[in-house]
Amino acid sequence: MTASHSTRMLILGSGPAGLSAAIYGARAGLAPIVVQGLQPGGQLTITTDVENYPGFRDVIQGPWLMQEMQAQAEHVGARMMWDTIVDVDLSERPFRLKGDGGTLYVCDTLVIATGAQAKWLGVEGEAALGGKGVSACATCDGFFYRGKKVAVIGGGNTAVEEALYLTNHSQDVTLIHRRDSLRAEKILQERLFAHPNIKILWNKGVERFVAGEGNAGLVAIDLKDTVTGETSQLGVDGGFVAIGHSPATELLRGHLELDEDGYLVVEKGGTRTNVPGVFGAGDVSDKTYRQAVTAAGMGCMAALDAERFLAEADFEAARETVVA
Ligand SMILES: Cc1cc2nc3c(=O)[nH]c(=O)nc-3n(C[C@H](O)[C@H](O)[C@H](O)COP(=O)(O)OP(=O)(O)OC[C@H]3O[C@@H](n4cnc5c(N)ncnc54)[C@H](O)[C@@H]3O)c2cc1C
Repeated sequence: MTASHSTRMLILGSGPAGLSAAIYGARAGLAPIVVQGLQPGGQLTITTDVENYPGFRDVIQGPWLMQEMQAQAEHVGARMMWDTIVDVDLSERPFRLKGDGGTLYVCDTLVIATGAQAKWLGVEGEAALGGKGVSACATCDGFFYRGKKVAVIGGGNTAVEEALYLTNHSQDVTLIHRRDSLRAEKILQERLFAHPNIKILWNKGVERFVAGEGNAGLVAIDLKDTVTGETSQLGVDGGFVAIGHSPATELLRGHLELDEDGYLVVEKGGTRTNVPGVFGAGDVSDKTYRQAVTAAGMGCMAALDAERFLAEADFEAARETVVA
């Protein structure tokens, strides 16, 4: 027989957004269920040093932070499910969702916190040097490269913004782009071209991230000219891959409004989606900030919005009963 679970609040995703929603939802008495997905704890579980999450004077470890968040959510009454949602029916309330083993989840409100994965180049050395010189987030890791030589790979808005951001820490920033022009907005390009500490390598594809001897981490990037085929090497301490993100929303296509890049659309300054009772939080609906603390903040907002939605719905239902 297929298992089934009913809850006032179902949360998809166990990153900072999902777990913060769980903490607030549990403390509001909604006994939330969190479906953790393939990456319990979310993206911070694949990083090491985190220095910008408030509350900790010393550097903390991403996986440790997420374990603590989960423990806090469970402590106040949230329930974790090691499952991944593969099907949703949001046509009427209660909503019905299905896990990959066939488990049915029935819920009065739904918080979507499925995140957005950074896109990677898929070249040699990239995965092995992740957190040891190779990163996909300048805001997160730029600080660790104070006074060092860094490169950003990409040609869109994110790449240009990351390059400009890195000049706060480094006097030697190189933007590597595989074409001879950028896709980024004109105004960003103007700021980039005008910056004395940024140089641009045009028509260069990344072939390999090169590790140093022993535990030295990244020391260079092997490049190939996309026009002439000529190879070269750029010595760097940090390499930031900025070629975009993929929001985890395939499952929601046709059920909820998504923008042109696939991000879940939520009301400005809030978390309501176009389906009443469904809320979006964290990177899945935020292509601007993409930080653990902003995701956690949105998770809190989504739980508060869901709690208010339920209170209103309960009040209306009670009033209809009295009138009838
Ligand atoms: C290498 C790296 C280093 C970073 N360093 C920092 C840092 O130092 N400081 C900082 O503030 N930010 C950092 N970030 C960014 C930060 O990790 C994200 O902004 C944050 O994790 C977003 O939280 P989220 O809850 O929205 O999504 P995520 O953390 O991405 O979590 C998404 C969750 O959704 C689940 N999920 C997906 N699909 C389904 C499904 N179908 N069913 C159920 N669950 C599903 C996943 O399993 C996962 O648990 C870093 C990111 C990376 C990749």
